Amino acid sequence: MYHLECIECHKKYRPSDVIYTCTCGGLLDIIYDYSNIHITKNDLKGPLSVWKYRALLPVGREPVSLKEGGTPLYRVDRLAKSMGLKDVYVKHEGMNPTGSFKDRGMTVGVTKALELGMKTVACASTGNTSASLAVYGARAGVPAVVLLPSGKVALGKLAQALMHGAKVLSIRGNFDDALKLVRDLCDKEGFYLLNSVNPYRLEGQKTIAFEIADQLGWKAPDRLVLPVGNAGNITAIYKGFREFKHLGIIDSIPKMTGIQAEGASPIVRAIKNEAAAITPEGKPETVATAIRIGNPVNAIKALAAIRGSGGTAETVSDEEIIHAQQELASLEGIGVEPASASSIAGLRKLVEAGVIGKDECVVCVTTGHLLKDSEHVLAVCPKPIEIDATIEAVRKAVFQND
Ligand SMILES: *Cc1c(COP(=O)(O)O)cnc(C)c1O
Ligand SMILES: [Zn+2]
Repeated sequence: MYHLECIECHKKYRPSDVIYTCTCGGLLDIIYDYSNIHITKNDLKGPLSVWKYRALLPVGREPVSLKEGGTPLYRVDRLAKSMGLKDVYVKHEGMNPTGSFKDRGMTVGVTKALELGMKTVACASTGNTSASLAVYGARAGVPAVVLLPSGKVALGKLAQALMHGAKVLSIRGNFDDALKLVRDLCDKEGFYLLNSVNPYRLEGQKTIAFEIADQLGWKAPDRLVLPVGNAGNITAIYKGFREFKHLGIIDSIPKMTGIQAEGASPIVRAIKNEAAAITPEGKPETVATAIRIGNPVNAIKALAAIRGSGGTAETVSDEEIIHAQQELASLEGIGVEPASASSIAGLRKLVEAGVIGKDECVVCVTTGHLLKDSEHVLAVCPKPIEIDATIEAVRKAVFQND
């Protein structure tokens, strides 16, 4: 029903091959025989979940699942109005079991690991991938090894990786260094690599697109805005919309719009310079640690997604990210981590620049939950006001202007 295929030289591989990139170095994609896949809107009734789309997922066994997906799509009218827009939604992926969209990829990836008979799973991570792998490894009963850039991982994510029993290694280097190392480790030790270079992860993540189409009444928004780090998610969501269009479930594909932090923006530069490939950045830096990545492994696929959909890419500053995070939290009651807020900051910037039209229907993907990075929250929010335990003191504090 499917095979793996190199996006560069089109060499094919079997589903039973344990391989992450082509022998030519190219990225792999999962290719289905769509003539054998018949799905209609009618088949897709019932509650949302990743495994509802099983017919479009490359897995043959019982899934390793914690009921991932089915995240809310919130209309955000107050936020929209503040930007002069009318039709804006937030797809809050922080509502997944471990608090980020990574769970959609991990449920498929870890299930695949079992199917392939792998004995240990591994990844490099800015935090959320390690949290998700630790959890799904535990769920599957398979040991997990995670490599993290030392000192740069939000505490909530680290806490998850530790509590769920992964072997947690703190690397003196950045994410890009850790990814290189773990790829080498997996090759040498036969561990199963679950970074987003693994095409099975992206298959799970494409279900974000399926759910958005369903939640909007079987139509695609005009534009999708999301943060871009390793660039797997933008690639995956684009694929999801294309599949639904191919199957006749929707009739358009949104303009894929990727947002990066100013200090880690190789994709944005490639788009603005109309370059065929990115130039990696040696020292990526941003408050949004989940997208603090200088050499995105899925860059070639992401550039194709952005260009193929008529989308664009833009940078935002750390100040803009923090402002957007606070705005979304206080105006709409939606708590997200800094990387996720870059989608909101990017939307505002592109509306102000006239790139995004006032009549567009826009969905922003917020990738991770606020509680992932509470240290950052304490650093940017006012401190609690400490007072005596008397009603006078409480009154004074409540009515005091700050
Ligand atoms: C992983 C992650 C991203 C980046 O996704 P990519 O697929 O690497 O582009 C963005 N935000 C959060 C919260 C993440 O965990
Ligand atoms: Zn190839």
